[in-house]
Amino acid sequence: STVRRSSPASLGARDGDGVPGRVRVAVRLRPRNAEEMVADADFADFVELQPELKRLKLRKNNWDSDTYEFDEVLTEFASQKRVYEVVAKPVVESVLDGYNGTIMAYGQTGTGKTFTLGQLGEEDTSDRGIMVRSMEDILADISPETDSVTVSYVQIYMETIQDLLNPANDNIPIVEDPRTGDVSVPGATLVEIRDQQSFLELLRIGEAHRVAANTKLNTESSRSHAILMVNVKRSVMENEDIASSENGDTSHLTKPSKPLVRKSKLVVVDLAGSERIHKSGSEGHTLEEAKSINLSLSALGKCINALTENNSHVPFRDSKLTRLLRDSFGGTARTSLIVTIGPSPRHRGETSSTILFGQRAMKVENMLKLKEEFDYKSLSRKLEIQVDKLIAENER
Ligand code: ADP
Ligand code: MG
Repeated sequence: STVRRSSPASLGARDGDGVPGRVRVAVRLRPRNAEEMVADADFADFVELQPELKRLKLRKNNWDSDTYEFDEVLTEFASQKRVYEVVAKPVVESVLDGYNGTIMAYGQTGTGKTFTLGQLGEEDTSDRGIMVRSMEDILADISPETDSVTVSYVQIYMETIQDLLNPANDNIPIVEDPRTGDVSVPGATLVEIRDQQSFLELLRIGEAHRVAANTKLNTESSRSHAILMVNVKRSVMENEDIASSENGDTSHLTKPSKPLVRKSKLVVVDLAGSERIHKSGSEGHTLEEAKSINLSLSALGKCINALTENNSHVPFRDSKLTRLLRDSFGGTARTSLIVTIGPSPRHRGETSSTILFGQRAMKVENMLKLKEEFDYKSLSRKLEIQVDKLIAENER
């Protein structure tokens, strides 16, 4: 049922060696909001974008600025459709081809992470974000008879994983498959998705629980990482190479086929705000809480540094987030990161550190691997049928 595409990820990946795939990083600038129009009216633009050169400049003073190159530079005029096409679509296509994929947003609170990823676009469909558009493309490509799509939606807050589809389900463990190295959260609610309406409903429920959970904890949703996991399972038939048979004449053989199954996963991560949390506990947090909230994000930064410095030890085990994202950085997934920034010179410190995070992530190399295996279930069904036939023939 699978359509082969000419995406680079498909090329030569069958022999199991994998295909090199660097983490791709785009930067997106949010338009000025009403408050900034007034407050920053007298300031020269602090951020200057050159999208055709894929460059971003941060002004240091009247004479001087620092220049950075990204894989994509998305201006304040970039539409949600264009952002999807540039940042997410190549990842979604890889997932449909049988590779794991990650789409992640990183940036200060209020710079557009949730708008970019989670916007439902119910009032204006042109506003639809990456989650909704990804599912649209997935549902359009799969065959309901042979393939399936299941989704879970969780958040990490203070190093516990909570089910956004069932808030009573708290403190969910991460499970690692020792055979494949795959990481999952089987304790989270898993919903089969057959149409876009039920997916929108799921996202609505998840978002409501994200807000409610954080209200109860007396915090803001900007302090938690929201993680959507979309599992795509597809059946594929591979015909054996009969021509290579030792007996030259193969005309008497019926062409055998090998049942294969591809189980790939798209992970969409709306990270907690990257701004430093003040240790004074100004928002009712103790020092201990502030540390815990920062733990996953700083662990992610440390893992990315270790990967780019080719350290033999990458501290994935240091946090829940990095354990879950093990395959996304330095692993087998195709990963796309979008770093979001605001235009205000009042946040130049946070904006610079977001840019530097993005620059480091661009150096991380992944090795994409096809998540394909022998379909034992399908084979055993076939064998049962054949055994039944043999028994029937013998009894005759
Ligand atoms: P974050 O999730 O990073 O905290 P949000 O996505 O909630 O930020 O964005 C903050 C506000 O800015 C929201 O009201 C959102 O609708 C608006 N916004 C963000 N990005 C854009 C954009 N590219 N165009 C228009 N409005 C945007
Ligand atoms: Mg948000």
